[in-house]
Amino acid sequence: MRLIDTHTHLDFPDFDTDRPRLLANAAARGVERMVVLGVYQANFQRVWDLACTDQRLFAALGLHPVYLDQHRPEHLVQLREWLERLRGDTQLCAVGEFGLDYYLEDLDKTRQQDLFEAQLQMACDFELPALLHVRRSHAQVIATLKRYKPVRAGVIHAFAGSYEEA
Ligand SMILES: [Zn+2]
Repeated sequence: MRLIDTHTHLDFPDFDTDRPRLLANAAARGVERMVVLGVYQANFQRVWDLACTDQRLFAALGLHPVYLDQHRPEHLVQLREWLERLRGDTQLCAVGEFGLDYYLEDLDKTRQQDLFEAQLQMACDFELPALLHVRRSHAQVIATLKRYKPVRAGVIHAFAGSYEEA
């Protein structure tokens, strides 16, 4: 079986000690490619550098709702600049990880929504798939996706909605 893992955080320092071994294990089990996702502005460079070291790794860049307090308005500007700079580079494969997290109650929903829509717009503008984090927010995500309709669709990871929502 040939597999692509569309959702990893292999750039995290947790993997610094055994990343090569982990990649070798994955390859031995048929995982031919992996996507490494951005979560906040400070890891974009790390994700990109990692994707550039190994042909099997592909980068996505985005601002994750769980890190809402770390995001600044200029980070959206910088995300767009990254996407512009890397436009057409095959090692960049998506916008992500972004989305809506209603499970953690202290994350402001309005700010999350603004961030979500700004990045959906980028997925549309750059014709990239969207890699989405969706927790207890399926109805709102569906309603928003109906308004944006990113041309290359995307992946909702750890999907926990109903058959109808899927
Ligand atoms: Zn993730």
